[in-house]
Amino acid sequence: MQNYLEQLNDAQRAPVLQKDGAMIVIAGAGSGKTRVLTFRIAYLMSLGVDPFSILALTFTNKAAREMKKRIAQIVGNSEAKNLWMGTFHSVFAKILRFEADKLGYPSNFTIYDTQDSQSVIRAIIKDMHLDKDIYKYKQVYSRISSYKNSLITVKAYFSNPDLTEADAMAKIPRLGEIYKAYVERCFKAGAMDFDDLLLKTNELLTRFPEVLAKYQNRFRYILVDEYQDTNHSQYLIVKALSDKFQNICVVGDDAQSIYAFRGANINNILNFQKDYDGVKVFRLEQNYRSTKNIVNAANSIIEKNKTRLDKVVWTANDEGAKIKVNRTMTDGDEGRFVASNIFETKMNEQAQNGDFAILYRTNAQSRAMEDALRKKDIPYRIYGGLSFYQRKEIKDVLSYLRLILNPKDEEALKRVINYPARGIGSTTIDKIIVAANHYGRSMFEVMQNIDKIDLKINSGTKTKLQNFTMLIESFRVTNEASDAFQITEYVSKKTGLVQELKKDGTPEGIARIENIEELLNGMRDFVEEQKELADANGSLAEFMEDVALATDLDNEKGDEDRVALMTVHLAKGLEFPYVYVVGMEEDLFPSGMSMSTRSELEEERRLFYVALTRAEKQAYLTYTQSRYRWGKLIDAEPSRFIEEIDASYLEYLTPITEHRYKPLLDADIFDEVDKSKLRMRKPVAGNAPTASKSSTEDQLRKLRRLKPVTSDTDKNFSAEEANLKVGTLVEHVRFGKGRISKIEGIGADTKAEINFENGGLKKLLLRFAKLNVL
Ligand code: ATP
Ligand code: MG
Repeated sequence: MQNYLEQLNDAQRAPVLQKDGAMIVIAGAGSGKTRVLTFRIAYLMSLGVDPFSILALTFTNKAAREMKKRIAQIVGNSEAKNLWMGTFHSVFAKILRFEADKLGYPSNFTIYDTQDSQSVIRAIIKDMHLDKDIYKYKQVYSRISSYKNSLITVKAYFSNPDLTEADAMAKIPRLGEIYKAYVERCFKAGAMDFDDLLLKTNELLTRFPEVLAKYQNRFRYILVDEYQDTNHSQYLIVKALSDKFQNICVVGDDAQSIYAFRGANINNILNFQKDYDGVKVFRLEQNYRSTKNIVNAANSIIEKNKTRLDKVVWTANDEGAKIKVNRTMTDGDEGRFVASNIFETKMNEQAQNGDFAILYRTNAQSRAMEDALRKKDIPYRIYGGLSFYQRKEIKDVLSYLRLILNPKDEEALKRVINYPARGIGSTTIDKIIVAANHYGRSMFEVMQNIDKIDLKINSGTKTKLQNFTMLIESFRVTNEASDAFQITEYVSKKTGLVQELKKDGTPEGIARIENIEELLNGMRDFVEEQKELADANGSLAEFMEDVALATDLDNEKGDEDRVALMTVHLAKGLEFPYVYVVGMEEDLFPSGMSMSTRSELEEERRLFYVALTRAEKQAYLTYTQSRYRWGKLIDAEPSRFIEEIDASYLEYLTPITEHRYKPLLDADIFDEVDKSKLRMRKPVAGNAPTASKSSTEDQLRKLRRLKPVTSDTDKNFSAEEANLKVGTLVEHVRFGKGRISKIEGIGADTKAEINFENGGLKKLLLRFAKLNVL
């Protein structure tokens, strides 16, 4: 324990040993910021600081768990579990449960996930008879969400003409009414959405000075990781809680701020020094994660951003291999390239599956990767996308469980009142909703009193409704004497949910049953873990709290060796020996939706910086020449970010696509930008390798000598003109030599079936295929 401080360099040790006061550690990727937080907590504990008085806020709950484990190893006792550690949402959900009554909420309030929230909004839009093409529920949801994150309550909204006018200008003048109805419905259902967890915490701390004082006194030491991505609401919470003792330590990297689109405010980190007295600023410069080549390449990228703090990042690690850039024809080929490459690397370097990550800009890109990995029998795991807990059958079970804890939960009720089918039709449900709104009661309460209200429901249906309420009531009783696993097993049997899926008999139905079994397995583990803790007993309420806030990264099982697939956003803070950043194409990365202003483009560039800096040993950048997007096959161009990397750090495995030189941006929309830079993009070919001894290079040189039969721009392609016919011997950069066995289609659609030495039989669209006649 004494020598753990020796596992830090001098620059890292300084903020660890600085016990009191406000401090900020600003440093580039991989320089040990998260490590500093971890060691600092261990150090505080070794000085006798009570772990109950330390609050550490992390980006994922998984990060919190890992930190706790590491701290327990260092301080060598089990006190670490008493630390207040987790994401903003999970920590403050816990506090809100203690204090819920002050805000008029039940302590067992439900946490609505995004799907629940959007479903409430959709219902409101329908009830208000608004045009759903104008009031798009997802957009309405994100607008309301951003109001909440800026602490604009319904009342604040209506008293601010700027906001009401802005929404009127945006042709959604009734947004405020929707917002109001949404808040009322959530309240009536005893539910908070994700944003409420922060908004209500702020409300709690501002409206109740005694509550604020209590938590200020409790949290003597506050630490925040990834501070650059905190939003206004989070900022205010941290500020309020740390105001008394001012023992606050935040770490972050402005170059990795990537959540502005969700309200993260980079000014929080930039202005930190103004917020507290005598702030100590620490900088770390040495990167321990990546090779020199990766660190330098990442530096050469981020330098292109104008808005940034100047930072030095260097590493004493090996030079390492160059970043490999690969082009393919289609996204399917891209997947196959990545999968084969992983396969070979595993063989050649004795790597594990878990050493690899495939990162993409959008979730939709995972499919091609998955297909290729499956064909090669490489186990993988997708993070993000539709998470386990969002699957239909799981949500069905969870809805019953939610009702047990909070019968007012309307989203849960609507989901299962007639599933499995029990003869309660939508007309009946509508009548109950109307009555609930009329009496200002929950649907469940209306159903409990169905005998006393005249809803024009026939007696058969009444009995069905009563049976349903009785079923839930009986679950509530059973739950009192059960742990989470027992009650869930009981509920899945009693409701007939599993029976229903068995009846289905299709492979999907079986997969669903397996998922429910997986849920039960997870619960059993959870219960066992919880029972070891002093202040927990594995109850359903504890489990549901965990689930409501689980992100995919949190549910990872450590014992599985799998390739990780995730969006770049999700990869923040993580590291892998081998990283593939796929879909490096204009309009995809940078995203076509984020190029209209300089600040959006800079955020995309930071995102790319995050992607690249996840790699320890080797990074790959791949792109394809054509890709299906929005249901259409489009010609793709390599991402500008590839060109922006200093060419000396790159190795092209394939000749880079020649540009069509269309200006990629309408530079006029960039007022303060150096326009010449934007328009005068260097021809990419100029970046291609000049002197490398690799065999790829030999291949390239050879290809350059041969006259290409087609180019990407050649829309009026004709096989005859290109001198291609059945029997012609051709060479392809990746598949090697091959003979054409068939030609079909005309013009731009001409395809050739070619039997390749390396690749077997392939059908290529000649317009794209880089073939050379031998
Ligand atoms: P990011 O910006 O990506 O979140 P970070 O600054 O939080 O990165 P860490 O994740 O803390 O960096 O550290 C990067 C890697 O370097 C980790 O594997 C960490 O264990 C290792 N590392 C950091 N400092 C040292 C050190 N002094 N000695 C050995 N390894 C170190
Ligand atoms: Mg970190």
